[in-house]
Amino acid sequence: MVPVRLRGHHFLCVLTYRGYGYTPAFVANMSRVVAAIKAGAAVELTEGPDDICNGFTSACREISDHDCSLASTMEMDRTAIASVARLLPDIADKSSAIVLTAERVEALRVAFASGDNRQACKDCSWAEFCTAIAADGFSGTKL
Ligand code: SF4
Repeated sequence: MVPVRLRGHHFLCVLTYRGYGYTPAFVANMSRVVAAIKAGAAVELTEGPDDICNGFTSACREISDHDCSLASTMEMDRTAIASVARLLPDIADKSSAIVLTAERVEALRVAFASGDNRQACKDCSWAEFCTAIAADGFSGTKL
């Protein structure tokens, strides 16, 4: 199975993904990525635009607060990586492909719901939406 490339903060976004996003094209692409991870595709940490951003970079810049290349978005990635490293120690090894098993996703979600790994979310416009999904037990999420 072809590995999936994810940037740092998307290790959090896949946890709450319910099939909503910026545009239908974004949703179709992200749904494919999340389905691949769920099916067992390994995940490679990447810097900057990843497979969720793929093909969406310019549109994202126009309609979202997540310009893929902004320094603040790169900082968001670094913050997210630091916050998930306790549960995903292999994320620090750039040559390692990470498998997000159901057990790991569950552990990440427990930490997400408690706020333990949400430092990167603090300035995100989706923060309340994701908080509500976590409070709802992540029901209806795709991963
Ligand atoms: S609040 Fe933003 S960064 Fe955090 S998981 Fe949700 S969409 Fe991703």
